[in-house]
Amino acid sequence: MELTQVIVTKITGKMQRLCGTVRYDDGFSEDYYFELPDNYNVSLSGNPWFACLLPLAVTLGEDLTISLPIDPLLLNATDDLIKLWKTWYPQLHNIKIFAETAVAPQQTKDCATFFSSGVDSYFTTVRHPNAKYMLITRGFDMPYSYVDEFDVHCARIAKSAQECGGELIPTATNIRDTRWSRCHWELLGHGPALNAIALLFEQHFGEVFIPSSYEYKILHPWGSHPMVDNLFTTSNVHFIHDGCGYSRTEKIKKLCQYDHVLKNLHVCFRGSDGLGQDQGNCCNCEKCYRTMVVLELLGKLEQATLFNNAPLTPEKLTLLYGDRIFLEEIYSFAIEMDNTILARAIRQSIKRSNRIDWLKKLTKLPVIWRIAAFFYNREIKKSLT
Ligand SMILES: [Zn+2]
Repeated sequence: MELTQVIVTKITGKMQRLCGTVRYDDGFSEDYYFELPDNYNVSLSGNPWFACLLPLAVTLGEDLTISLPIDPLLLNATDDLIKLWKTWYPQLHNIKIFAETAVAPQQTKDCATFFSSGVDSYFTTVRHPNAKYMLITRGFDMPYSYVDEFDVHCARIAKSAQECGGELIPTATNIRDTRWSRCHWELLGHGPALNAIALLFEQHFGEVFIPSSYEYKILHPWGSHPMVDNLFTTSNVHFIHDGCGYSRTEKIKKLCQYDHVLKNLHVCFRGSDGLGQDQGNCCNCEKCYRTMVVLELLGKLEQATLFNNAPLTPEKLTLLYGDRIFLEEIYSFAIEMDNTILARAIRQSIKRSNRIDWLKKLTKLPVIWRIAAFFYNREIKKSLT
């Protein structure tokens, strides 16, 4: 595949669009967009394109030609990145990169981070108050076409960023609406996509934090990972995957020291409107509930006012279906805090989650799949997911 041309145009809302045309080996071409405020000098190097296109190239097994220069440090990391990904996912391909090298210019060395007002990004923000520039992207979790919804979403998060002493920078990309979507988003694509967004600002940012999702003891192959994110460091932009030394419970504990964080904490993809674009957490999904449990155990749930859409009850807690890693963590914390009622309810939810996963496996078997699917769907319907 080849990045054949790149142009920058002004678009509405004081934004600019970097548009790159990508031609694949079968001859098909399509345009990739990256949008950012027009008061920043957008990168005109090959660096953001390298970060964006490398996971797709190894997925499709196509060599990658980029017509713009790539930072020598970044280009040198190619072998490491491909070897690491192939260790995790042997089905990926070895490919070659064709590009010139050059160090892109840099005007300032400001510090940035990604920010969603959730636990991980708030944790990085309060730990690194020098990270004043806070990036958020339409086209990742929220579809690129959700323009108005993203504006509502950003209005809330911009206030949270301001209360941290920072400035929210809205960005957008259509990559998930292109052939790029053939990259596995969770396991491979989302980390390099974050790197690509940050590298659009390489003339401005010398250091960029990427908040971690998992602590060291439960790290596993994943799109954004300390072994991956940091390899996208260039001569001028240093990436730091931040927060792996802390569990989610430890992060929430730290956030409880800040009233403005408790007031603005928002972890939910659904929101009270069911779409995740309004002011509240739904308080009825797995992610909301396990955050609410930790806040309750710390005596801070009432102060976390975006979690006031529904009360926390042990009965509902037993209905949680979620990641055992996180459920075991909150179970241990409930035991540590001597709250046997919540601990018992979490233990029930762990049993429920194991049961549902077992039924899910049975739905893959011949003959009994139909009956297994009936019970699986019945259990899922009753659960908080
Ligand atoms: Zn929720």
